[in-house]
Amino acid sequence: MNNLSGKHVLVTGAGSGIGRQTAIVFAKEGANLWLVDIDDVGNHKTANLIEAEGGTAHVFTCDVSDADAMAALSEHIHQHIPHLDVLVNNAGIGAAGRFVDTSLQSWKKVLDINLMGVVHGCHFFLPNMVKAAKSDAKAAGHVINISSLAGFFAPPDLPIYSTSKFAVFGLSESLRADVAKYGIGVSTICPGIIDTPIVRKTLLEGEMAEQEGMHDKLASFYKKRNFTPHQVATKIVKAVKRNRGVCPVSPESWFMYYVKRFFPGIVSKVSQMVKPLP
Ligand code: NAD
Repeated sequence: MNNLSGKHVLVTGAGSGIGRQTAIVFAKEGANLWLVDIDDVGNHKTANLIEAEGGTAHVFTCDVSDADAMAALSEHIHQHIPHLDVLVNNAGIGAAGRFVDTSLQSWKKVLDINLMGVVHGCHFFLPNMVKAAKSDAKAAGHVINISSLAGFFAPPDLPIYSTSKFAVFGLSESLRADVAKYGIGVSTICPGIIDTPIVRKTLLEGEMAEQEGMHDKLASFYKKRNFTPHQVATKIVKAVKRNRGVCPVSPESWFMYYVKRFFPGIVSKVSQMVKPLP
């Protein structure tokens, strides 16, 4: 899909970080944006930024982990447009702590948002995209699922987060193989360490939670790394235009992707050596 002008693009988690920048970059390409976030204030800010540049954005407050809310959202949107052209399943939260310190509440919360949020996005919006593509090949759209470097590399501090992102990776690969016959593309985006507000809100457990100022330390580590959400957003738009499959983003993500591919044994050794972040 080379020309995004006039296309309908839905972004979940559009109220901050990678989601906000992705929505802005799609809007600059002339797309109509459907912004979804649980944070109404952040989501409206994104819409204002888009509209200030002459773009179009519709704002919806919705929890992606809530199946009923996502069903109602899809019903509402499909009353206005027959199908999305691009679906970006981006909403997610962070979680860190050694497995023995993790609570079942954290497992449920993170998997409900990071995995089931993506499942809900695909479940409620993909059928109309498939229907459109079947009747007109030119209407074939694209699905972007945000996994992570932690979607193929699992350090000991990230058992919950890595589980959610490995699952999104697997779902996306299966989906890509499934809907290719309709001309619909699916990309698995795997960002590395990106400077966004996610680290300030990351659920911390065990030793990570006990260390004073851990959120500040994480935020300053991510800031020093200095890879911006805008850089990720431009790769996401490129992935749609070129129908890319798996897309590591940032040098550390590419590095681990190739090490895992060609020297899988080294990866498990490296995982064991990783010290608690930062
Ligand atoms: P962020 O915190 O800046 O933005 C995430 C957005 O998702 C927020 O606006 C938040 O309100 C929204 N959100 C959270 N829970 C939600 C829910 N239940 N329903 C609807 N919206 C919800 O974080 P970010 O860094 O931009 O993260 C975006 C995605 O990128 C996430 O899936 C994250 O796991 C992934 N990712 C981030 C990094 C990184 O280093 N920042 C690296 C790899 C992957």
